[in-house]
Amino acid sequence: MDIVLYPDPRLRKPNAPVEAFDEELAATARQMFELMYRTKGVGLAAPQVGINLQMMVYNPEGDALKPEGETVLCNPRIVRRAKDKEFEEEGCLSFPGVYAQVQRPASVVVEALNLAGEEFSLELDAWEARIFQHEFDHLDGILFTDRLTPANKTLVKSQLDELETAYRERAQA
Ligand SMILES: [Zn+2]
Repeated sequence: MDIVLYPDPRLRKPNAPVEAFDEELAATARQMFELMYRTKGVGLAAPQVGINLQMMVYNPEGDALKPEGETVLCNPRIVRRAKDKEFEEEGCLSFPGVYAQVQRPASVVVEALNLAGEEFSLELDAWEARIFQHEFDHLDGILFTDRLTPANKTLVKSQLDELETAYRERAQA
């Protein structure tokens, strides 16, 4: 399992709902956590490992030694968004080295299924709401750079160009 890097088209493909809540799904989630920790991330969505399914994992602690922060969501839905929005710096494992300010609702209420296919609900705010919404976007094929103000997009333009060039070079190799 490897991280799919921008601008790989797999990041833009539709993601199917999870239907099989089996051992393979649990094993995939486990591998995603391990890859996320190895690459110093706090969240990872299935399309970022080339699996176009509506599943994400995150741990706000970003630390394999603090597994109590681990959350897996399948087929998540946002049922409520706060009206107030906040800017915060984000990065993404699919955009190594790129960081930018992104505006998002400060809190969300979420419904999802766990690895056993059981429904649960979460009220998220602050850092955890931020991570969730970033990963949730991946499940819709939306990348954090899509949400930048024109001025903030300008700040990362040359880095995005470099990632695009590197992708083309890998594709030709
Ligand atoms: Zn991301």
